[in-house]
Amino acid sequence: MKILLFGKDGQVGWELQRALAPLGELHALGRSEADFADLDALRCRVLDERPDVIVNAAAYTAVDRAETDEAVAHRINALAPGVLAQAAGACSAWIVHYSTDFVFGSRGGSGVGGAHVETDTVAPLSVYGRTKLDGEERIRASGARHLVLRTSWVYGRHGANFPKTILRLAKERRQIEVVADQVGTPTSAWLLADLTALALYRIAMERGGAETLSGTYHVTASGGTSWHTYARHVVELALAQGARLTLSPERIKPVSAAEWGAAAARPPDSLLDTGKFRAGFGLALPAWRDDVNRLVTELVAGGNP
Ligand code: NDP
Repeated sequence: MKILLFGKDGQVGWELQRALAPLGELHALGRSEADFADLDALRCRVLDERPDVIVNAAAYTAVDRAETDEAVAHRINALAPGVLAQAAGACSAWIVHYSTDFVFGSRGGSGVGGAHVETDTVAPLSVYGRTKLDGEERIRASGARHLVLRTSWVYGRHGANFPKTILRLAKERRQIEVVADQVGTPTSAWLLADLTALALYRIAMERGGAETLSGTYHVTASGGTSWHTYARHVVELALAQGARLTLSPERIKPVSAAEWGAAAARPPDSLLDTGKFRAGFGLALPAWRDDVNRLVTELVAGGNP
């Protein structure tokens, strides 16, 4: 299997370099090798390489900045995935693409525990959410065989993210405020990468019979939490493991999203029902705390914090 990976230096892309390598011939590209701003070059790159699978982990992920940078966010999150999907179709390749809980905007979906299922009505509240939804739709409309994997609250060893920020603030501050009225599922970049590789392996083993697996899926760890409870969990665990912090868990104060006042509105309810993915690929999804605990343990053991 020849795989062309875009966005190799992001949180998920970094882990995909490891997870996809055993599947075959992997060509991993970062922004300097394939800038999504140049759509013609992107198309030519795919048509020249003629991969069996394209995996797109590149995206414009600066959610608040996107509010005032819509044209660029649209090019990276909507036009570029559309170009990749059309080129994938021309090569008879599969395309794997990541999307987001930010395509939803309402509280509560029609899935288990009120989580959103894939067919629930989308209603993005932000420029980022709208551009990501546009990208999804272009892939579905391209006719290429695809896995559009919607995920949420991603963190990894590589790159900046929520648990790392909380641990940094916990060394510098005596009190912080964290949003308590938004719920979702923290999902590790390495879990996403491993699940992607397992899904592609399943597709490869099915050979001609894999067409029915083409589609949109919700893929996160299991369970859910608020940002506030998540932050407390990270600090409690770090303290239990001997980290020297200035912040105690009870000094993490809950605030509403309205009080916090981010530039881009976030969905109040980001829980995604993963039943379709688990049933379709025969996979189980670990509890969100498992991988968060792993990251915090590694950071504390590494002296950070
Ligand atoms: P990151 O922001 O860590 O990585 C995104 C990558 O895209 C970076 O390597 C970046 O390059 C690259 N990129 C940005 N602009 C361009 C461009 N013009 N040309 C080429 N590459 C570019 O994202 P994540 O790994 O966290 O996210 C992976 C996917 O998951 C994305 O599709 C995202 O929308 C989705 N997702 C992420 C969530 C999260 O909480 N992070 C939640 C839900 C979904 P550079 O390193 O040069 O900046």
